[in-house]
Amino acid sequence: MRDIFSKSWKKELAGLRISEDLKKYTTFKIGGPADYFFTAKSKKDIIKAVGVAQDLKLPYYILGGGSNVLVADSGFRGLVIQIANQELECRGREIHCGAGLTLGALIQKSLNQGLAGLEDLSGIPGTVGGAIYGNAGAFGHFIGEKVKTVWVLDPKHSQVKVYTQKECQFGYRESVFKRNHNIILDADFVFEPAPDKKRILKKIERAQAVRARHPYKNCAGSVFKNIPFHGYARLSWLRQIFRQSRGLQSEGSSEKQGERFLKNVPSECVQYGEIKAACLIEKLGLKNKMMGGAAISEQHANFIVNKREAKAKDVLDLIDLVRKKVYKKYRIVLETEIQFVGF
Ligand SMILES: Cc1cc2nc3c(=O)[nH]c(=O)nc-3n(C[C@H](O)[C@H](O)[C@H](O)COP(=O)(O)OP(=O)(O)OC[C@H]3O[C@@H](n4cnc5c(N)ncnc54)[C@H](O)[C@@H]3O)c2cc1C
Repeated sequence: MRDIFSKSWKKELAGLRISEDLKKYTTFKIGGPADYFFTAKSKKDIIKAVGVAQDLKLPYYILGGGSNVLVADSGFRGLVIQIANQELECRGREIHCGAGLTLGALIQKSLNQGLAGLEDLSGIPGTVGGAIYGNAGAFGHFIGEKVKTVWVLDPKHSQVKVYTQKECQFGYRESVFKRNHNIILDADFVFEPAPDKKRILKKIERAQAVRARHPYKNCAGSVFKNIPFHGYARLSWLRQIFRQSRGLQSEGSSEKQGERFLKNVPSECVQYGEIKAACLIEKLGLKNKMMGGAAISEQHANFIVNKREAKAKDVLDLIDLVRKKVYKKYRIVLETEIQFVGF
């Protein structure tokens, strides 16, 4: 590969690596090399790296802890910027931290300060930036609930901007940053005082006990999103797109249609206002289904595990199989939660 970085750019991005294997930066342990790889240890580093990529007209990808991504076998043609700014500061009930801090470190800090609010999320791997991007959550709580402000780099206008919680437009595994591709630099959180530490520790123990029953290594968490069933119209719409992509006739969109296909869903798969993707997959008998080196987990049907040096293609094949079977049986189109790099 031609090295397009001049000496002066390399000086700007100290520690820049060439043809860096991305496998080791993801929890899936899958994927080929990035042409260039840079670890940004400060906000300034992040802004500099994005600027350099733009000047060189080089595609770039923002990587956090790599716990929610599938990297292509061919890797990424461009610069991967690993976000690793980990500043952390407490001011009363507020905590300010860098996007590259681990979510675990933020939660631990809040507990040390006698604060609470994100303990249900303990055990979710990855960074604060990655968690804000996808509004990570567990047990009915989401990181967005505790966000006060988020500082981002708007790469299009080369500007640092501030978003309030409302402006972040948090939803189920959604934030505005998934759509506007702004880069999360740091954030302020507001916690609650936690006089009853025992209660908080109990919550953490509960979370840990549930997580102990799920796979932890060589996976990327839930592959598919659950389906909130207040969104009938959205489901009908997704279904239409799916039909169109397969050259089938459109059915038109209506709330009634949504209700009709909910009837296909086993009642035990509907919990807390959503259809559980794991339950649908399990009902289809797909646990342990293996393609190449990847398998649907025996412990949790919404997890795909890299069992034996799996390729990204093996994971994609499994995703395709699951989506087809779920659609055939339940008339539901599953959306992926994991993000795809280099495809
Ligand atoms: C064992 C296991 C259990 C999990 N359990 C849960 C769970 O209970 N709940 C849950 O919600 N998730 C869960 N996940 C998924 C994952 O941990 C979360 O989505 C996590 O928040 C991703 O953070 P990350 O730093 O690893 O992001 P990455 O995987 O590195 O990136 C994910 C996406 O975020 C973008 N991104 C990352 N940082 C930034 C930034 N600073 N600015 C802009 N974009 C950015 C990336 O470009 C990418 O598109 C689990 C994963 C594993 C492996």
